[in-house]
Amino acid sequence: MKRPDVIVVGAGIVGAACAAELQALGRDVLLIDRNTPGGGVTAAGMGHLVVLDETDDELDLCLLSLARWDDYLSTRADIAEHVRCGTLWVAEDEAQLAHARARAERLARRGWDAAGVSGDELARMEPALRAGLAGAVRVARDGVVYPPAVARDLAGTLVALGGRTRFGTAVARVDDGAITLASGERIDAGDVVVAAGPAVTRLLPDIPVFPRKGHLAITARYPNRLSHQVVSMAYGQTEAGSDALAVAANVQPRITGQWLIGSCRQDGIPHADVDPRVLARVLRAAIALLPCLADMKIIRSWTGMRPATYDGRPVIGQHPTLARIWVAAGHEGLGVTTAFGTAQLLADLMLDRRPSIDPAPYSPMRFAHVPA
Ligand SMILES: Cc1cc2nc3c(=O)[nH]c(=O)nc-3n(C[C@H](O)[C@H](O)[C@H](O)COP(=O)(O)OP(=O)(O)OC[C@H]3O[C@@H](n4cnc5c(N)ncnc54)[C@H](O)[C@@H]3O)c2cc1C
Repeated sequence: MKRPDVIVVGAGIVGAACAAELQALGRDVLLIDRNTPGGGVTAAGMGHLVVLDETDDELDLCLLSLARWDDYLSTRADIAEHVRCGTLWVAEDEAQLAHARARAERLARRGWDAAGVSGDELARMEPALRAGLAGAVRVARDGVVYPPAVARDLAGTLVALGGRTRFGTAVARVDDGAITLASGERIDAGDVVVAAGPAVTRLLPDIPVFPRKGHLAITARYPNRLSHQVVSMAYGQTEAGSDALAVAANVQPRITGQWLIGSCRQDGIPHADVDPRVLARVLRAAIALLPCLADMKIIRSWTGMRPATYDGRPVIGQHPTLARIWVAAGHEGLGVTTAFGTAQLLADLMLDRRPSIDPAPYSPMRFAHVPA
């Protein structure tokens, strides 16, 4: 087999985006996954393309990535099952409304379409919401995709550009410029990109990524009853490293007319089983905002393990000590949104181009002193 320039381990949305990006920039890429493309966490999440702004660097990565999503969706919207539904960040009280307004101002300053909505306007905009909410912020350009379809499509793009794939093949070990498959076969490459989602720490023990569990449920089809993704302003309040259960309503209208209901964040849970008590709390939080949900039929529930880091930032860049290993992992609950931006930033670094955004907050170097 011809030695590839780059092996990408992991064909989730992050690895597939990196592989397609590097191939498009002239590197010969081999993309490997133990599963099918998009069959990991990418198949478990909500697929909300959403700008988050907890920090300036998070906002930078989101905006970079969403611009690239626009390019991709200009020709692939159908494949991605894209709907530009926008997000309503719903405030239940005046304190949440103040946070929502601050978010609208931050996003608007960066040229992103975000506007405050009064309680009355909210009731007209989304009649399924309960009465008496304080207000909201509407982020009009946010949207929804079906992430595993995008990962599969990107793997197809890679092949169309001359790259190679090997699926159903587990990588047992990563070395500086080489991988060893579970079968014992060793493949050398110029560089190795490890994009193995929550499994990255098994391959690279000095990159600490841990699973943060979320529960989801989906209804039968109820078309035209919800037009925005509705998210409580309480969403995303889990403290990094906390083992507490954080629950906040997050309800998404799917292109099928189904409602996808999330979500919660839970650390320190080693198994992926649905916990009926946790699921009940997720549903109760959603019903508290959207009372008609109580009469809708839930047809399936499942969990997903977000690949989290202790500082809440993904890990993008060169391994702290091994110059031919690169990491693209740890995107927690934002890896779909930030996949294309991650691919662009990683390619900038690998090809020694001027980085599109400041890479320092994401550097694997920040773990150089963390004991394995
Ligand atoms: C409940 C929930 C809701 C979410 N909602 C959203 C959302 O609305 N918006 C958003 O932007 N993000 C969301 N996310 C986050 C998003 O889904 C993840 O950040 C993203 O899918 C991570 O992609 P990944 O490619 O890094 O990981 P994965 O999709 O897990 O891909 C890693 C791949 O590596 C492969 N792999 C692992 N180990 C090996 C090995 N040894 N050998 C070979 N292959 C290997 C796996 O098979 C897998 O395919 C959500 C996540 C969850 C759990």
